[in-house]
Amino acid sequence: MDLQSRVAIVSGGASGIGRTISLMLAEHGATVVVNYRSSEQKAQALVAEIKAKGGEALAVQADISQFDQAKHLVDETIKAYGKLDILVNNAGINHDQLVLRMQEDQFDRVIETNLKGTWSLTKHAAKHLLRSPHGRIINISSIIGLIGNAGQSNYSASKAGILGLTKSLAKEFASRQVTVNAICPGFIETEMTDQLDPKFVELYLANIPLKRLGQAEDVANVVLFLASDYASYMTGQTLIIDGGMVM
Ligand code: NAP
Repeated sequence: MDLQSRVAIVSGGASGIGRTISLMLAEHGATVVVNYRSSEQKAQALVAEIKAKGGEALAVQADISQFDQAKHLVDETIKAYGKLDILVNNAGINHDQLVLRMQEDQFDRVIETNLKGTWSLTKHAAKHLLRSPHGRIINISSIIGLIGNAGQSNYSASKAGILGLTKSLAKEFASRQVTVNAICPGFIETEMTDQLDPKFVELYLANIPLKRLGQAEDVANVVLFLASDYASYMTGQTLIIDGGMVM
């Protein structure tokens, strides 16, 4: 994948799946703006790693659930590199609880980060992406946005919302050749999933036809493809990367 001279923002790009996406975009030539909310050390270490490999990267702190901070992230990108070609909306959180016990703020925080954060960052990035001959928006949703899950009403609503957002944005930006696609990962081993009860993980594994948990690389490979010229005729699509779990 040749991403030389492309500038990318990866929200939540310093850890988990986002870290691998940042690294792999950089390995294929992209200049990467690594956004973080609280993981400053991880972000700076990743930038140093990318630079040591001959790439270019910048760490920018911003809580993307805050509209003005999402703008700050885009402004810093333009200040540093003068343009934007690829936006990966990866940042996400979960606060799981059965709806009878879920507090209003648990619902709001997940929607504000996962759904509104994706919208805010896209809104601020749009005018720059529309100027790019290779504009790409890649939204990280989840299979939970497709099939739902007990205890994740807030998370599944936010991730389903991202799928609707993806299709609307794909239609809005298509005339300028900016593509907008979504990825629904299944069970990917990261810090987010490390906290789960091993019994629960076994249960998941039993339902994965490919008989292994997903790795961040499995998602990042698809991000690379969508970011590349190979995917220039694909827009408004949802790609499921889950080892066959929900087919
Ligand atoms: P993770 O390890 O918990 O990483 C989440 C990342 O999001 C962190 O880098 C975090 O940054 C960032 N983030 C959270 N809130 C933020 C905010 N308000 N502003 C900026 N950054 C923020 O999770 P992950 O497993 O890599 O998940 C990445 C994405 O994949 C999420 O959207 C998640 O919903 C989705 N996903 C994951 C799985 C899975 O099995 N792991 C499955 C389906 C979908 P800080 O550390 O700096 O706070």
